[in-house]
Amino acid sequence: MTTRARTFPIQLDKAAVPRKTPRPATASEQAMLRPQRPVQEAALAARLQVAPSGLGLDSQGVRTRMVTRLRAGGLHCEPVLAAMAAVPRHLFVDTALAAQAYEDTSLPIGLSQTISKPSVVGLMISLLLAGRTAAARESLGKVLEIGTGCGYQAALLSVLGSQVYSIERLKPLHEKARELLAPLRRNNLRLIYGDGRLGHGPNAPYDSIIAAAGGEDIPAAWLDQLAVGGRLVAPMQAPGGRGQVLVIVDRTETQWHRSQHDAVHFVPLKSGTE
Ligand code: SAH
Repeated sequence: MTTRARTFPIQLDKAAVPRKTPRPATASEQAMLRPQRPVQEAALAARLQVAPSGLGLDSQGVRTRMVTRLRAGGLHCEPVLAAMAAVPRHLFVDTALAAQAYEDTSLPIGLSQTISKPSVVGLMISLLLAGRTAAARESLGKVLEIGTGCGYQAALLSVLGSQVYSIERLKPLHEKARELLAPLRRNNLRLIYGDGRLGHGPNAPYDSIIAAAGGEDIPAAWLDQLAVGGRLVAPMQAPGGRGQVLVIVDRTETQWHRSQHDAVHFVPLKSGTE
């Protein structure tokens, strides 16, 4: 029997050649530094029950490539990217359009409505997360979404929030979203048929409010139902007919602080139900 040397043959301080000015890791090095990411994404996808479509779109690879492009385009919010890597966007669009589901484009979902571009969905949700306190930045808390549409964004919100209430004013879309979301079994997501301009009083206040349709102004009910310390992100008509912009409202103890961001293009926020 041989006895093993007790000390490692190379002293670590001699082996490591210190760099004078460490340079920041490149994007591909950072990806290598987080080898657990693909495993986490795959686990989330498995939990979300991505069913085989026969189109090759159920493979993790297509979504991971979409996420790589979103990251290259400037989206760096990791929890949002992980959720987008897991939620199967192709299941929320018509089969004829499924091949385009992972392109950065908005797509028709019927009744003159559209599913928003992944980059805009990612930007809006990351703006919501950025408004959370450092301790709570991994979760959106209790969320209100106005404009369920086909339910894609609602699915993402349910991955990132503790409880999500999503309102849609068009009955056929509300029902379609219910059908599309059922296999994903998001127990913390409730779909509501109604006029989202009134918000949803029974479960207020909300830590995060997000709208997928834009009006002339931010409805008073949304401001009332936003929790103190909460954030609202919504498209709104810019003053002077200059198209739509994203508006952020942060509520503090004493005021609602409003700021304007990127130009966007959303469907109109309408009154009543149909
Ligand atoms: N988030 C959606 C995008 C839907 S498009 C997705 O991921 O697919 C915007 C939706 O807002 C449309 O379905 C439209 O019917 C709805 N909408 C417009 N005004 C509304 C209102 N007052 N209340 C609820 N939904 C509204």
